[in-house]
Order: sequence, then C-alpha cells, then structure tokens
Amino acid sequence: MSENRLFNFSAGPAVLPLPVLEEAQRDLLALPGVGMSVMEISHRSKTFEDILARAEADMRELAGIPATYKVLFLQGGASTQFAAVPMNLLAPGGTADYILTGDWGKKAYKEAKKFGAVKVAGTTESTTFARVPRQDELQLTPGAAYVHMTSNETIHGNQFFYVPDVGDAPLVCDMSSDVFSRPIDVTKYGVIYAGAQKNLGPSGVTVVIIREDLLARSTDALPSMLNYKIQSENGSMYNTPPAFGIYILGLVLKWLKGAGGLSAIEVINERKAATLYAELDRSGFWKPHAQKDCRSRMNVTFRLGTEDLEKAFAKEATAAGFDGLKGHRAVGGIRASIYNAFPEAGVSALVEFMREFEKRHG
Ligand SMILES: *Cc1c(COP(=O)(O)O)cnc(C)c1O
Repeated sequence: MSENRLFNFSAGPAVLPLPVLEEAQRDLLALPGVGMSVMEISHRSKTFEDILARAEADMRELAGIPATYKVLFLQGGASTQFAAVPMNLLAPGGTADYILTGDWGKKAYKEAKKFGAVKVAGTTESTTFARVPRQDELQLTPGAAYVHMTSNETIHGNQFFYVPDVGDAPLVCDMSSDVFSRPIDVTKYGVIYAGAQKNLGPSGVTVVIIREDLLARSTDALPSMLNYKIQSENGSMYNTPPAFGIYILGLVLKWLKGAGGLSAIEVINERKAATLYAELDRSGFWKPHAQKDCRSRMNVTFRLGTEDLEKAFAKEATAAGFDGLKGHRAVGGIRASIYNAFPEAGVSALVEFMREFEKRHG
C-alpha cells in the first residue's frame, strides 16, 4: 500500500507521517481495549478524555509550554482565529498592530478591521513579500492591544528567523505553516494559533496556545464558541470537539517525540530546505522568490523563466510522481511544501528531477 504513495508537496492539507496513518488504519475499526472506533465514542468517555489529555501533555512537553498558558483545541481553522483574536483581545478604544508579510497576514488584518482599530506596523508588500521586515522597520503603536504576525507565509515562502520585540504588547502569532517545525520560546508570545493541517495533523482542528492572563479580556458578550475564556474553562469541550482530528494530532505528536522532538526535527527541516535552495541557486534557470535570510524552510517558492516553462514543470513533475508543486493561485510559479512529515528522500528525488528538467529545457 505505502509503495503507492506519491511525494506529496501539498501546502495543506499536507503529507502526514506514514506510521501515523498506519496506526490510524490499524485501529480505525476498534481502538485497542475499547472495541469501537475513535469516531464512534463519546467525547465525554474516559477513552477520549485520555486522548485529549495525552495530546495536550505531549504538546506541552514538546514545546515547553509553561503552566501559565492554556492549550485549546478548537474548530474553524486559522481563518476563524483571524476574527476570534480581535473579538477577544481588542477592547473598544484599543488599537491592534499587524505585521504583514503575505496574503495570510493581510487576511487577518482585513478581518480584524471589522472589530476595531487596526494599524499596519510593518509590511514588505513592495518586495512582493520576498522578505519579512527587520526589527528596526517596525512602527509599533505604544500601548497596542496586541501585535499580530505570521511566522511563516505559506503562499510567498518567507519565514521569520527572529521574534519581534514588541515591548509589553502581547505578540499574537499565526504559526499555521511552521508550528512545531523548530523549537518555540512560548514565553515570547501572548497567543499562538495554528490550523493543524500543515504540520500537526488533519484539517478540522485548530490549536490555540494562550497566556492565561489574556483570558480576562474575553467578555460575556462574545459568542460562546469564539470565547477563549469559555473554551478554556471547558477544557476545549464546550461542545463536541473535533475528536478524530485530535486523535490524529495526538499520533503526530507521538511520532514527533519519537523523532527526537523539535530540535531534532529542526535539523532535518534545515537540511531538506538547504538541499532544495542549493539547487535553486546553482544556475540562473531557477528563480527562488524569497531573499536568502528570510527563506521559508517549509514552503519553498520559485519561478522559472516563463509561465509556459512553469506549466511544463508542474505537468512533468506530476507525471513523474511529484504532487502539489503548482504555486498558490494568488502568486503562480512553483511551491514545494516540505513540512515535518515530508521525507528527505522526496527532496533528493525532486532535486534529481529538476536537474534532468533543466537539461531538457535549459
Ligand atoms: C493555511 C493557512 C491559514 C488558513 O488556515 P485555515 O485553517 O484553512 O483557515 C492561515 N494562515 C496561514 C499562515 C496558513 O498557512
């Protein structure tokens, strides 16, 4: 079965670790000792409570999440957090700062505008988001309710390699596409959120890590499902949680622990990205998008000389067993997403294919 699997460069939902899929498949009809599928049991059962608690504990262990932070498993994807963040954290009269490094940050900014005063504290749009702003380029609002950033811009392929210093304002970070791809100093953030479907599991579950004191900002006027305080008080079980997604996420975390945790996966991610970027830099044939010091290790974006050549590349790559290389519809070009679960062998195979393609078309 696994021999039929392609090299999956999809940006999300994305490749999952094979051992995770195999375990899920083995236990799909009946969890060991339970005799029912994880999809068939009550979320209030001891079995599911244990799955949820284990996922949270592993998450805390992997990222060193302090006890002063809550971990929530919610629904609605990162896009729902674009609204939930200002709804919970931006009180009337306050201002929220947004650092824009691509389409996702722009979407978050646009959504937040519906709820209060928001300001662009930095943008690299004039470079087509080929880089992130430097610390000295940020224009932060004194006393801002929070500062929002996107650690990795999935579409443009840039990534932050420093955590902006935003003073006393809580830093809110959309980590959807690089969460748990490297160690995280959680204490530098007020809120971290991520749709799971890139680096953590399947779509349908959204992780929110929030500093406890910020929960005091959530007012009773908010819809209960979008209220961080209510979700936290109910241990992510205000309603039926995305049980299957949380189960798979738990298996991914177990796999990640077995692989040596975040420092170990970072080394592998660095190596995979370095291999691919080295090929892109080797000749003028490939045109990598992001500037060298901001290149994403998760989403490698590049162009070729002409759009026809890009089309030919995507087509021939698909035929050769490399799926999902077409760039996002917003920017075109080629994008190779190489998240945690993407195998190193797939990167080497792609590089080989690229050399051969260059020979034929260069
Ligand atoms: C994919 C993505 C989103 C959107 O996630 P959904 O879960 O589909 O809402 C938001 N931000 C970033 C950085 C992403 O990569």
